[in-house]
Amino acid sequence: MRQAAMSRLWCRQSATVAVCIGLLCLVRLSAGVGAQESPTDADLEVASAGRSARIGVTASGGPKPTKIPLEVYVARVLAGEGEPRAAEGAHRALAIAIRTYVVANEGRHHREGFDLCDTTHCQVMRSATPVSRAAALSTAGTVLMYAGGPAEVFYSASCGGRSETAVAVWPGLPDFPYLRPVDDNVHGNDSSWTLDMSSTDIRKALGRAGFTGRRLTGISIDQRNDSGRVSRLSLKGLRPTAVSGAEFRMAVGPTALRSTAFTVERAGRGYRFTGKGYGHGVGMCVIGAGRLARAGASAEKILGHYYPGLSLGSYDGTPAGPVSRTAPPAATLPAPRGISPISLMVAEGSGIDRADLEGLAGTAFADLSRILGVSVAPVALQMHGTVESFRRQTGKPWWVSSAVSGAVIHLSPATLLAQREGVEATLRMAMAELLIGRAFGARPAWVRVGAARYFGRGASAGRPAQPGVLECPADTELLTALSASTQRDADARAERCFARALVDAKDWRDVR
Ligand SMILES: [Zn+2]
Ligand SMILES: [Zn+2]
Repeated sequence: MRQAAMSRLWCRQSATVAVCIGLLCLVRLSAGVGAQESPTDADLEVASAGRSARIGVTASGGPKPTKIPLEVYVARVLAGEGEPRAAEGAHRALAIAIRTYVVANEGRHHREGFDLCDTTHCQVMRSATPVSRAAALSTAGTVLMYAGGPAEVFYSASCGGRSETAVAVWPGLPDFPYLRPVDDNVHGNDSSWTLDMSSTDIRKALGRAGFTGRRLTGISIDQRNDSGRVSRLSLKGLRPTAVSGAEFRMAVGPTALRSTAFTVERAGRGYRFTGKGYGHGVGMCVIGAGRLARAGASAEKILGHYYPGLSLGSYDGTPAGPVSRTAPPAATLPAPRGISPISLMVAEGSGIDRADLEGLAGTAFADLSRILGVSVAPVALQMHGTVESFRRQTGKPWWVSSAVSGAVIHLSPATLLAQREGVEATLRMAMAELLIGRAFGARPAWVRVGAARYFGRGASAGRPAQPGVLECPADTELLTALSASTQRDADARAERCFARALVDAKDWRDVR
């Protein structure tokens, strides 16, 4: 963060004494608890000013929503994600990044009845420590701001020397200027990691991600991106014949293949991957932040290094703060802009503005690729102008609203969709179907149709799996329904079947 960009900083006062170091304020409680005592959860609850987050806690079985005061949550996540022995500046910087993530991602799991989960998908929690509580309290209410609202930020364990562009990992995200590669010159003495894996194991892992083929006979790096990480690998003997670096890492296992900053060579009956860093590498590097703090860097300096150009501010709803700047909730942040992985064809007479459709498609893509942990690029979207054109190109009957073929989505005219489930809902269902398509391969149609409806209609929460006998529709019922009403019935049953199966499977990829 450049000093000039930090002008929006504020200091909490009231019953506390705010000590400003540079531009960042360190708050020490002067009443209630003595300055020497460790803060408690009760102190953090007070500092949360009524704000809380609903966290899906996976202690036993599925995630259960638990309401946690915001600053208590920040302290717990900091204990889970931070380096226990790092210097104060690193803890404070990470506390601010964690809080920003919560505020910007409110409702990420709204379909399941909570905001964030407690796995690496969102943020991992541990028992708070005196150090993590102190860092949460001393930065309470402070978030990173971008374009008038809480910024979309990420952090990862170790960048290995250069951080990663967000869009390289999540192609649906806007190309935020503060999430582009920066050099991190604190990794000079890091040793590299290696992973040896047999061709068969790699093929099996890719098979689970939807790749087909009996033998993997070669892997080579096709392309690296600006950060030097692998952006595309070519796969001899499998279909598709190429995979993005991020997707490959997820398929093989993100803890086995620690990052996409690797080289690959043949080794015996398999391959040896040699690399640097751990994690996706986007945004703040936790290891690097620790090293900068040890060398004396403040939280402000650390955040400025990893998120250049962002400012600090307060989220809405902290009466103790002297500045009552209203930050828009995450849901009203501008729709994704910048480089879009989606190409659009909007026919004349379709009844929707190109810019409107682009906005809906970008948001649907970004949301769903994050929720599902899958991304596909590029995606083509064709909005037809007439039902005839839709029928001709897709071979579907008139009552079908969308058709997905590979990475192409066909939509019936918007005027028609508006009378059915709506343009946005239809688009989201089709987008979900496209994203999950590859992972599902040859499973029964109800899995694909059900998952597409389940995730696509996420906004309409509160559809409990109904008890009683529920027969999953056969492929013929879904794919060659005889009328609009039998189609609707089959689609609805597919969705309920999927919702029911997901309860047991936990991961959508395992529903079959
Ligand atoms: Zn999550
Ligand atoms: Zn780093």
